[in-house]
Amino acid sequence: MSNLKIRLYGDPALRKKASPVGKITAEEKKLFENMAQAMYAAGGVGLAGPQVNINKQLLVIDAGAGLFKLANPKILKAVCVKSGEEGCLSFPEVTVKIKRPEKIVVEALNHEGVKIRIEAEGLFARALQHEMDHLMGVMIVDRIGMRQRLLILPKLKRLKKMAKEGITR
Ligand code: ZN
Repeated sequence: MSNLKIRLYGDPALRKKASPVGKITAEEKKLFENMAQAMYAAGGVGLAGPQVNINKQLLVIDAGAGLFKLANPKILKAVCVKSGEEGCLSFPEVTVKIKRPEKIVVEALNHEGVKIRIEAEGLFARALQHEMDHLMGVMIVDRIGMRQRLLILPKLKRLKKMAKEGITR
């Protein structure tokens, strides 16, 4: 089992901007492994460093195209903005609608430190952008309007209270 704890909305770790990694060492490989374990254990399709209090630009994702372990991701191209439903492991029981490009091209380092290019679309593209947001300290609540925010406000308050008490997922 992974020893990483998934932080809930309200935890300051989620607001920290992650730093790029210099290169992929044994330490990053171990982190990738643990992050993937934590993601699968929680039933998620993606997990980013800040969600488990790791201040590095690392993310894991398995959204239909297999497991990817990526570092320092950058979006090179993004087209076809579409609205779609989104959840987040740091926001249990919350679903919102967010507009994002449906097709993207991302450049990143893979788990071996090799620079790769990924063409993603659909759920994969959405999940990748969601995790990349986390690396910048950005969350789903930052991408919704007032109307959606009001609808989930009671849940947000409860999560903040739990995070304050040090409860993790
Ligand atoms: Zn998330």
